[in-house]
Amino acid sequence: MIVNEMKLSKRLQTVAEHIPKGAVMADIGSDHAYLPCYCVLNDLASAAIAGEITDGPFLSAKQQVEKLNLSSLISVRKGDGLEVIQKGEVNAITIAGMGGSLIAHILESGKGKLTGKERLILQPNIHARHIREWLYKEGYALIKEDILEEDGKCYEVLVAETGDKDAAYKDISFRAGVLVGPFLAKEKTDVFVKKWSQELEHLKKIYQQIKVAAPSIENQQKLNELSERIEILKEVLERG
Ligand code: SAM
Repeated sequence: MIVNEMKLSKRLQTVAEHIPKGAVMADIGSDHAYLPCYCVLNDLASAAIAGEITDGPFLSAKQQVEKLNLSSLISVRKGDGLEVIQKGEVNAITIAGMGGSLIAHILESGKGKLTGKERLILQPNIHARHIREWLYKEGYALIKEDILEEDGKCYEVLVAETGDKDAAYKDISFRAGVLVGPFLAKEKTDVFVKKWSQELEHLKKIYQQIKVAAPSIENQQKLNELSERIEILKEVLERG
């Protein structure tokens, strides 16, 4: 691959846009290490760590870094989550392309490695709410969010730093903000409206199916939960 021709997916490009200029970054679950290679090649990061837990992706990350002659600037490390970094070694952490609960789990189990000064740039494929809940619990302020569509899939990007964790939730109820994203709800882009309108229709269908099923305490509990989520989504989609 010719170095200056390295192209990233729109999804990873959006993650890269939030890296503070010249950062030392860690990309956790880096797979092929495209993101740290791109960031270093384009002077978005001055150095990087690519962390991988699995042998195959770890090897492909190493090969990619060597192929681009970036071994002096990108350290490829094998390990679980944040265990591959030393405390204070980086000032930006990216975790992309996984479910929100796995990203929240990686942050929770590795929180001893965080100084609180790192910018966290997190890109869940699904269930971003688990990350927003974790960030709030740990005193991180959401400072920006993005939503994008690529190849028919919808992705969210959450950016957080330690700070006023309530600031992002001033104009929206916490339960709605955590579910759909306080910044995304405000911006209400076409992608956002499409994603949550589809989800609303899906939830309504499930609600009807459970409603005609045999009554049980379990089903009633599910109906209550679905009804709460349906109300939240209606409120979010209807507000101006
Ligand atoms: N970040 C890349 C992207 O967004 O295109 C790769 C995403 S890939 C679907 C997820 C990667 O995360 C896999 O290569 C997997 O091995 C790695 N992974 C999963 N859990 C991990 C953990 N606890 N620590 C480090 N890497 C992990």
